[in-house]
Amino acid sequence: MKTIYLTAAQIRQLATIAKEALPNESCAFLLGDNGKVVKILPMRNIDESPVTFSIEPTELLNAYNLAESEGMQVIAIFHSHPAKPSPSSTDIKFMEINPVIWLIYSTTESQLKAFVYDEDDIVEEIAIAIVSPKG
Ligand SMILES: [Zn+2]
Repeated sequence: MKTIYLTAAQIRQLATIAKEALPNESCAFLLGDNGKVVKILPMRNIDESPVTFSIEPTELLNAYNLAESEGMQVIAIFHSHPAKPSPSSTDIKFMEINPVIWLIYSTTESQLKAFVYDEDDIVEEIAIAIVSPKG
């Protein structure tokens, strides 16, 4: 089973990003390697919407360039829902295009969940492992 590795501090950071964006959805890119998150890049939700998010193309490109220059990958896309932490039909469409790990934080349930769109065209929830900063 696929797993994403985050520190407790990183999970708190994602929750803070989500809460600060309310009433709208927030979004961020998670850079790292082998499923382990090293850096969180908060992104601006140009939709300024409580039900969708979009990232400006130049900001998107900068994130990929930064990842590459630091020898990392964009391993996950994070966004928040002022609702349940499950992918919307729009999310599923974008998950198919961007087959990385998708993290969704629910500001109503204070819960973080991770999903992947797998080769059988199924959205599957994956495990979130909390690791120590050094590990
Ligand atoms: Zn969503």
